[in-house]
Amino acid sequence: MRSGNGRGSTVPHNTCRLKSPLECIRCRGPLEALPDGLRCSRCGSDFPVAEGIADFSEGRYYDVFDPSHGVSDAHRVGLENEETGAVARIRDFFLPLIQRSAGSSARAMRVLDSGCGNGISVDLLSAAGVEAWGHDLSALRKWQWRERRMRERLVVADAATLPFPDGFFDLVISSGVIEHIGVEERGNPRYSVTPLAERDALRAAYLRELLRVVGGGGRLIVDCPNGAFPIDFWHGDKAGGARWHSPREGFLPTFGEVQRLARKADNRARAVSLSARGRLRFQQVGAHWYGRLFAIPMAVLLRAMEIPGFRWLARSPLNPYLVIEIERRK
Ligand SMILES: [Zn+2]
Repeated sequence: MRSGNGRGSTVPHNTCRLKSPLECIRCRGPLEALPDGLRCSRCGSDFPVAEGIADFSEGRYYDVFDPSHGVSDAHRVGLENEETGAVARIRDFFLPLIQRSAGSSARAMRVLDSGCGNGISVDLLSAAGVEAWGHDLSALRKWQWRERRMRERLVVADAATLPFPDGFFDLVISSGVIEHIGVEERGNPRYSVTPLAERDALRAAYLRELLRVVGGGGRLIVDCPNGAFPIDFWHGDKAGGARWHSPREGFLPTFGEVQRLARKADNRARAVSLSARGRLRFQQVGAHWYGRLFAIPMAVLLRAMEIPGFRWLARSPLNPYLVIEIERRK
């Protein structure tokens, strides 16, 4: 892998008639870089670019955020706390995984972080020599991304219509996204979640789009809390709280469900479950007595999932957090 050089600009600002590596979300035509946007040379659609960040949302963000008001102090603290988790996710799990996959290849791995949130992943992976991209569909994130060094690799886009060509990526990462697709969540007064009738169709469409941008022989890694495990440490009334849930709740998927959705999305897809060692942290839950009680046997279990003969544990109800590798065969 080459080392990051800190440039890697892909959306030039001051030249015209330059072709962008991105493509039109409406017609899949090529995009030309204009001074303040991207224009499809086939259908004429325009997509704005501000501060290097291309916006394909067409105004349909999943959140409501007014940049002129900024964020409250409480919200700012929440966003700062989130950074620790974002750094650990990449440093302890995904970067080592990418480096193992790249082997001795001279070419940088091209990686997409789908639903990348604050975009820190793209800066960290880029600094390690990965050609990293990220997308999210949030007005708040777009505002937050102005602080990112590699913001020209961050695009505001719906996961259902990504502005990337077929097979553009060697690896696509989707962390803690799939469970939120096709469900309605409420936080007030208590956390509750209801599946929508079209949940499976929406989740399969998400995987289909991610598999489209993964090349033949490329891989997609989907991680989420395991629906077969009876406790959810990630969604609840407060951070690090534990929420008991029924296997029929219809929110968190099981390994079998993700495997079926991946096959429905692309019949060349093959799913295997990996150990979440390095991915699963006990930071927030460790503040509670049950978290500390849980941490030691869990560390043993996560290690065991890496040993041949015990890998089935990773897809079993004993594993609280699924990391599913979906390979797209050529
Ligand atoms: Zn077009």
